[in-house]
Amino acid sequence: MTKRVAVIGAGPSGLAQLRAFQSAAQKGAEIPEVVCFEKQANWGGLWNYTWRTGVDEHGEPVHGSMYRYLWSNGPKEGLEFADYSFEEHFGKQIASYPPRAVMVDYIEGRVLKAGVRDWIRFNSVIRWIEEDAETGMFTVTVHDMEKDSVYREVFDHVIIATGHFSSPNVPEYPGFDTYHGRIVHAHDFRDAREFTGKDVLLVGASYSAEDIGSQCWKYGAKTVTTSYRSAPMGFHWPDNWEEKPALVRVEGKTAFFKDGTSREVDAIILCTGYRHYFPFLPDDLRLKTKNRLAAADLYKGVIYVHNPKLFYLGMQDQWFTFNMFDAQAWYVRDIIMGRIEVPADRQVLMADVSEREAREEASDDVKYAIRYQGDYIKELLADTDYPSFDVDGACAAFFEWKKHKSIDIMGFRNNCYQSVITGTMAPVHHTPWKDALDDSMEAYLAN
Ligand SMILES: Cc1cc2nc3c(=O)[nH]c(=O)nc-3n(C[C@H](O)[C@H](O)[C@H](O)COP(=O)(O)OP(=O)(O)OC[C@H]3O[C@@H](n4cnc5c(N)ncnc54)[C@H](O)[C@@H]3O)c2cc1C
Repeated sequence: MTKRVAVIGAGPSGLAQLRAFQSAAQKGAEIPEVVCFEKQANWGGLWNYTWRTGVDEHGEPVHGSMYRYLWSNGPKEGLEFADYSFEEHFGKQIASYPPRAVMVDYIEGRVLKAGVRDWIRFNSVIRWIEEDAETGMFTVTVHDMEKDSVYREVFDHVIIATGHFSSPNVPEYPGFDTYHGRIVHAHDFRDAREFTGKDVLLVGASYSAEDIGSQCWKYGAKTVTTSYRSAPMGFHWPDNWEEKPALVRVEGKTAFFKDGTSREVDAIILCTGYRHYFPFLPDDLRLKTKNRLAAADLYKGVIYVHNPKLFYLGMQDQWFTFNMFDAQAWYVRDIIMGRIEVPADRQVLMADVSEREAREEASDDVKYAIRYQGDYIKELLADTDYPSFDVDGACAAFFEWKKHKSIDIMGFRNNCYQSVITGTMAPVHHTPWKDALDDSMEAYLAN
């Protein structure tokens, strides 16, 4: 009997999985029946922008964490699909840091070409998944929000591709409940223009604080303050941007920091990270990991060691994104199709996880971490027919990106890099990032 595979989520990871199976079918292989369940009305995952915060049109938690004016925060040359280049999609090479609308168009282009939209059931929230101990099959409980009906279906394999930058980690500080301003987590931040002319405090010192702070600066915030717990970001910030040590408390509109200083702020944006959150999974199937390169309990970074018929895509911290999800999806496909064998001995699976953890912990160096993830991609690619590409070249683009950020944090997006898929150099964008206020696809692609 044909195997049935459930893919949960139609973001970049889930879509990579659909494309992986479709490409096998295209080459004449018999593939399982694949059903993808997506809670939103459209595909693209986080890249599918929504203005909504809190709950969606069905009363479900909003998945989206992206905001208006978001431009890729790393060079597109580090994430390009090896089987579908930017040049193929746009008919020309484009600049290196596309805005969200351009990125989502590219993501969509590949799956439209593959013709897999019919495999997806939209507006379908996964409520619960459990394994039948006797048959080893998974029963998946789905809420069809359009029909408002709940049903169950049985699958041989489940692939969790629900992302891990959606459920916010929200700390509490003394005085928050009486603060005279707006407190918002990055997950609910939507439009930097809300903070034009305002003094803004961003709590955190990672990508969200850096990018949301930059957005606020670009769209006219009066001042930007970021507060760090362990170390400052240390970029050459504009004059009206200051880094402070940890926030301790607020009183009225005044924020107090660990070094005894304080400042009045109109709004506080919590850039305090996200949680891996799977409310639809019981203890025995639920991944419990930190946001790190060697995700806990995943053999080869994708196979759940406590139940190797269950897979997780894209659960590690990410230098690489789309091409890593592809490498994972092709690998998982080949396990399911019997082309790659998973060792039966659980000790072997656990040892693989421990080795990855130890190797990750061996260095704090950023280049080491980028190479580490590049090597992981190479490791997976070696065993599948995903088109091979110059992973070291993509690492080199990331190294350049890091260098460009340290030189000019508000200007790094004006640089361009060489595609490792087509070999073409990206053109310099027509407008410096800080002056490009229109983030539409038309504006970006205009010559
Ligand atoms: C603000 C922000 C900016 C980012 N910027 C970049 C960037 O510039 N470049 C980059 O490469 N990466 C960026 N990322 C990283 C991002 O994680 C990846 O690009 C990518 O979106 C991850 O894909 P995914 O499919 O794993 O997860 P997601 O994109 O999160 O997709 C998961 C999907 O699962 C669905 N889902 C969730 N729960 C359920 C359920 N119970 N039932 C059914 N469906 C469900 C969701 O609706 C969603 O469609 C950014 C992330 C954030 C938060």
